[in-house]
Amino acid sequence: MPSAQQLLITIDGPAGAGKTTLSKMLARDLKYRYLDTGALYRAVAYAIRQQDINADDDQALAKVCADLQIEFVEDRLLLDGVDISSRIRTPEITMLASAASARLPVRKALLGIQRKMGQRKGLVAEGRDMGTVVFPEADLKFFLDASIRQRALRRHAQYAEDNNEQSIEDIETDIRRRDENDSNRDIAPLRPARDAIIIDSTRLPADQVLERMLTHVHQLTCSSKC
Ligand code: C5P
Repeated sequence: MPSAQQLLITIDGPAGAGKTTLSKMLARDLKYRYLDTGALYRAVAYAIRQQDINADDDQALAKVCADLQIEFVEDRLLLDGVDISSRIRTPEITMLASAASARLPVRKALLGIQRKMGQRKGLVAEGRDMGTVVFPEADLKFFLDASIRQRALRRHAQYAEDNNEQSIEDIETDIRRRDENDSNRDIAPLRPARDAIIIDSTRLPADQVLERMLTHVHQLTCSSKC
């Protein structure tokens, strides 16, 4: 059985459900690495925006993905050696990432990159298809959900910190559109894995969600030792 240091944990769920906050908290608590796969889709969106490529031009997308030089250095994301961490968080890149993520060449290219990044255990990986497609053999899978209103409110608070003045209504509209794109696409749609633990965080503060997650981690790691 895996020890506490060796688990591969996935956290999937829709936009604004608290995946990033919880993944970082869980990784810090367990002293694991953290993989933000949404940032990879955002990097592709950033690259196609820079090259003025349409998100439905599969041939051009395949070329962009083949040339993609992306790496995480601590919590920064570098594209061709340039730190693009803040530039990928705009509403435009967010919607473009959602559109590009439905395309086969993009998903194919990022699948290999993500699996390579997840080769070593001791990892918390967050995304939409971590437990279903990228790491179906993960030791522990969570699916984090919350009401659309609550998710929009959380995003609004986050955006305010970054001086992004999008209204709650506009954020809610974007989230609805992204939910629809992510859930209805043919390839790797957003859905809980059959063996995922589903947590609704609408009324749960982050520290209580973390506590629940840690209980599952300890149950799993203790079953071999305690
Ligand atoms: O998580 P984040 O909001 O940064 O993700 C940006 C977009 O990337 C999502 O709206 C989704 O369409 C896509 N994505 C995905 N699969 C993942 C992670 C993100 O399709 N594993």
